[in-house]
Amino acid sequence: MARATTKDYYQILGVSEDASSETIKKAYRKLAKEYHPDANPDNPAAAERFKEVSQAYSVLSDPEKRKQYDRMRRFTPFEEFAGAAGDTERARGFSFDDLGGLGDIFSSILDFGRGRKRPAPQRGRDVEHTVEVSFQTAARGGHVTASVPVTEECATCEGSGARPGTATTRCPECGGSGQKSFGQGGFAINRPCPACYGRGEIATDPCPSCRGNGQVTTQRRVNLRVPSGVETGSRVRMSGLGERGPGGGPPGDLIVRFEVKPDRFFRRRGLDIYCTVPINIAQATLGSKLRVRTVEGKHVVLRIPPGTHSGTKFRVPKMGVKKDGRIGDQYVEVKIVVPEKLDERSKELIKELAESEGIKY
Ligand SMILES: [Zn+2]
Ligand SMILES: [Zn+2]
Repeated sequence: MARATTKDYYQILGVSEDASSETIKKAYRKLAKEYHPDANPDNPAAAERFKEVSQAYSVLSDPEKRKQYDRMRRFTPFEEFAGAAGDTERARGFSFDDLGGLGDIFSSILDFGRGRKRPAPQRGRDVEHTVEVSFQTAARGGHVTASVPVTEECATCEGSGARPGTATTRCPECGGSGQKSFGQGGFAINRPCPACYGRGEIATDPCPSCRGNGQVTTQRRVNLRVPSGVETGSRVRMSGLGERGPGGGPPGDLIVRFEVKPDRFFRRRGLDIYCTVPINIAQATLGSKLRVRTVEGKHVVLRIPPGTHSGTKFRVPKMGVKKDGRIGDQYVEVKIVVPEKLDERSKELIKELAESEGIKY
């Protein structure tokens, strides 16, 4: 039986063995923020620490994996997390990075999956997703919830497709190479073997979460803060919400692209908002009060003076788009709508009006 050295995930996160999942989550958030590569550019020590923290969290945050880890931990010697990868590790022919997650702990201790090729820990891929927002939310900011489909390495089996703790056997389809030739007539291309999904090994007891596929697609529900003033095509990056990192690496990011739904009433030009309101001849001629909707949802009352022409614009200050500390105005354009049908009395009145202007009917 091979002896395995592993890291103490509890020590890495600085929590006790009986820490609650809430405590673990808090510790992880704090450390992930501190060592995030974005906050520590060109700092390999921080990057390594970030990877360890992510690894530790990926195991301790999953109740099933944590239980298994606790079991293994009782009879596994530990490496001090601060001690980095020791020379003894390298001398034995594998790098510290190979100790990705539980799959490795099991395979080392129980000697399962001999010769299994495990991917080195790498950062998960970014996921881009388009989210529709209403005109009002885009203009003034707000929140929107979205369901983002993410296909990623299965957390239960870490992509191996095997039920944790069970053995895998060499894939009979590809002989363990993970590649198969497709094609004919002397021209062939190598593709990942469909029987083992390119892993070269197949599970004797498939993982219950992914049915042996090694990947799962989940709908990730995210509650997004929409920054005020976003436009179609604006993007925000949400750190750590992308695909899970293969081999215990840090997760990728979620990149949200906003798409602003057009509004039937409002139009946007820069920071200003335009709208058109119909008025009739009487309102235009005699003056009137107009109730107009604003992007804040409330109404304002505009006083239309007597003798207003079609196409006149009225400005409602500070009812435009808010962005970067600035705010636009709302412009209300009135459009005179002429009645298509008139009763006899109205017709007579209009005729009188025309005649007073010197036009004969
Ligand atoms: Zn799985
Ligand atoms: Zn195969």
